[in-house]
Amino acid sequence: MNEYVTEGIVLHVRNQRETDRTADIFTRKLGRVDAKVTGGRKPLSKLAPHLDVLSLVKLRLVEKNQVTVVDALGEESFGGGHIAPALRSRALILVYLLRFLLPRAEPDERLWHYLVQGFRAGAWQTGDVLRILGYAPEEASCALCGRRPVALFHLKGQEFFCERCGSKAPQNELIWL
Ligand SMILES: [Zn+2]
Repeated sequence: MNEYVTEGIVLHVRNQRETDRTADIFTRKLGRVDAKVTGGRKPLSKLAPHLDVLSLVKLRLVEKNQVTVVDALGEESFGGGHIAPALRSRALILVYLLRFLLPRAEPDERLWHYLVQGFRAGAWQTGDVLRILGYAPEEASCALCGRRPVALFHLKGQEFFCERCGSKAPQNELIWL
């Protein structure tokens, strides 16, 4: 059994069985983990209120067969009611992208700092995040016509499109750079 104290940004939370939840968290020390939140669906859960999407939390995690959250303390929220709706929408799009592309169990100090500073300042570029993850937009050409520069990233295909070709693809799978 291993115990870790680390910070994390919550990417997604889903219900699991009758009383539990699973939180998809990008942690600083362990990278992305799926962590069980025991009792997370109960109304009086101590942990659940700290584990909202886009929360920056201090975590105590125990790893034994699976990772479990044993303690969580919310430090900041990058998606709460005090955040401007437009900014919150942009942050949720970035979270959506991260859930597609971020590998599990691979700590990434550079991405960690970029996200925390970017969310804090309300300023980040999708292209920067893609570059950190190894998809450099400036080196890419459109997957359909070969043109440069590219303007959109296709999540499922993990490829770039130019603006013209991107307008023909399903819009819910595309992210503007
Ligand atoms: Zn094209």
